Amino acid sequence: MQKKEKETVVIALGGNTLLKAKEKFSIHQEVEHIEEACKEIKKIIDMGYKTVITHGNGPQVGDILLQQKLASKIVPPMPLDVCGAQTQGEIGYLLQRSLGNILKKPVITVVTQTLVSEKDPAFKKPTKFVGPFFKRSGKGLKKDSNRGYRKVVPSPDPKKIIEAGEIKRLLKEGFVVIACGGGGVPVVRKLKGLEGVEAVIDKDLASERLATEIGADTLLILTDVDGVYLNYGRPSERMLDEVGLAEIEKYTNQGYFPPGSMGPKIQAAIRFLQHGGKRVVITSPKSALKALKGSGGTTIRR
Ligand code: ADP
Ligand code: MG
Repeated sequence: MQKKEKETVVIALGGNTLLKAKEKFSIHQEVEHIEEACKEIKKIIDMGYKTVITHGNGPQVGDILLQQKLASKIVPPMPLDVCGAQTQGEIGYLLQRSLGNILKKPVITVVTQTLVSEKDPAFKKPTKFVGPFFKRSGKGLKKDSNRGYRKVVPSPDPKKIIEAGEIKRLLKEGFVVIACGGGGVPVVRKLKGLEGVEAVIDKDLASERLATEIGADTLLILTDVDGVYLNYGRPSERMLDEVGLAEIEKYTNQGYFPPGSMGPKIQAAIRFLQHGGKRVVITSPKSALKALKGSGGTTIRR
């Protein structure tokens, strides 16, 4: 009998599951959250999936920006692409260490570049939330859902994951791969080659690119809510459990999912399914295993 090819899952881990809103930065907190998330991810890997983990970096890159701002008279600040690469190292290392400690499989982090277009309109219209939450609005700050005000920066659309081919080879070799941290380091193609740009790519949209390019079956988006809601945060809120592509597109057009938080997750889901993906599951790390098995969370299919 021919051996069945293992399914591939791309797990997109929200920056806010790793460093919670309203929490002060501390390595102990971050390690604690990463270890919690890794325990849940291990259960998924143990189901037999070929697994890639992508992750957000909003809180982390925000802290680096804050540190740079405070120290700018002594140490010159790094551009946003370099800050993004720093967070890939930070979070990649912590995930690689935590998962490595509990898994029998080898785990590897790939510093990942994501190609964007120089002409992307996002460079003129910033939408991406980074950094600490403030109680009141101020310069460069915008309201982030119902959680407070945050700094907002350009978020160009990811076109291509530069290292997708290498990531696919690592999966085939049996590695658990951590990639596309913070949506990947944004780069543009110039005559002399790739060049970093001042932007933050949405990790959900980048995860879709990667999932599609490596031919993944499932895109699992883990965040700090148990699923996707209609009328989120209102008395009439209702969580969606199973929903089809046409239905989720309808809700999107009706404006249920705000940009910068749930909006890009839904956009990523729609693109992944349109590009041939089988299913998208959106839930919290705690509910992930059950949701993959069909109970809890929000599942979106073609
Ligand atoms: P992550 O770091 O996981 O990407 P985000 O903050 O970008 O987290 O997105 C998750 C947040 O989206 C939730 O914490 C919630 O406050 C917000 N949100 C906005 N609209 C919705 C919705 N319709 N359903 C669920 N959550 C929503
Ligand atoms: Mg997000």
